[in-house]
Amino acid sequence: MGVYEDLGVTPIINATGSVTRLGGAPLAPAALEAFQRAAAETAPMEQLQAAASKRLSALTGTEAALVTGGAAAALTMGAAAILARFDLARMERLPDTSGMPNEFVIAREHRNGYDHAVRAAGARLVEVGFNEVVANAGVRRAEAWEYEAAFSDKTAGVFFVFSPGAHDLLKQVVERAHRRNLPVLVDAAAEVPPKANLAAIPATGADLVCFSGGKAIRGPQSTGILCGKRDLIASAALQTLDMDDHLELWDPSAAFIDRSKLAGMPRHGIGRSFKVSKEEILALVAAAEWFAAGGHQTLIPDAEKVVQTVAAALEGLPGERRVHPSDGESLPILEITVDDAALRRDAFDVCRRLRRGQPPIYLGHGRLADGILVLNPLAVSAGQANVLATRLREELAAS
Ligand SMILES: *Cc1c(COP(=O)(O)O)cnc(C)c1O
Repeated sequence: MGVYEDLGVTPIINATGSVTRLGGAPLAPAALEAFQRAAAETAPMEQLQAAASKRLSALTGTEAALVTGGAAAALTMGAAAILARFDLARMERLPDTSGMPNEFVIAREHRNGYDHAVRAAGARLVEVGFNEVVANAGVRRAEAWEYEAAFSDKTAGVFFVFSPGAHDLLKQVVERAHRRNLPVLVDAAAEVPPKANLAAIPATGADLVCFSGGKAIRGPQSTGILCGKRDLIASAALQTLDMDDHLELWDPSAAFIDRSKLAGMPRHGIGRSFKVSKEEILALVAAAEWFAAGGHQTLIPDAEKVVQTVAAALEGLPGERRVHPSDGESLPILEITVDDAALRRDAFDVCRRLRRGQPPIYLGHGRLADGILVLNPLAVSAGQANVLATRLREELAAS
């Protein structure tokens, strides 16, 4: 029996990718090893975060970085840093932001469920632009001038959700925000691979950028990276670290937290609720270095085998299969079109039956409305490929 069965829980085959609700990505072996070794000793957390900052800022081309409890926690801490800076009274008050500049300008088309993490710090989102492309009522996306037109003395910063192709727009938005001394916070949680984005997104000049540690980077599921400007990272760190010490004794590395900029010592901040462990910090650094060195690319051949095994098993069955090959960094993806006329069941039914079968199988459900199941091999082991192929064949053969 496995450790999950010991608890009465049946492990699944996760063919959806690194989604949080199914436990995320498998850990990189280097991360697992670092996690175990970190557990054997201990050190002050501000020293560990300062050391992680050096390593992660080298990978991201930034001044400093903080390991957070996920990209969503990085969004909350980035917003908290922008709202409070080094103002200890503001740190104490968050998420109460009454009477201070608290508006973050965001394109309407960037609104999504994760912006709750920014609002959790006390930020108020001010929407600009339209969502004409989705509304099928126009051809233009949000433009930089629309952000600028919304800036006022209540504006604290800009919140930008990165997606492929957004590089030039982000640069323009950063330029306009900086003219008004306003910082830009970027959600790039799932924008790696390509590994070049680790540095290319911060290189737009954005003040703070968030990456997920538990997706393709394959660090612990509950980690993320907040990287960017030194003072903002220091503020985020101050609001995350456990602060129950005496100012006379507390001695953080000056390169990470410059005490001379502080009027005193803050108490536990808003991020104390999102603490990360020493094991998570070391494991995330190991995973990020593995990823930046191309570790994820060594996994592509095995992922290709999984996709090919399944595609071969489904040959001749109703419906269509389409492989999106790897671009050299991303994993290949298999799209499976369900022929509901031939099967007398639709893609939702197939999905449901796979989840309820033995072993339970979860496929990507982002395109079910179009009748398409998406197989992402990121969390599928070589040993699971045949079971996955057999179960899919059973469900996709006309009876
Ligand atoms: C996954 C994701 C997040 C959250 O990342 P976690 O590391 O799971 O907290 C935030 N924003 C976007 C766009 C994401 O895809």
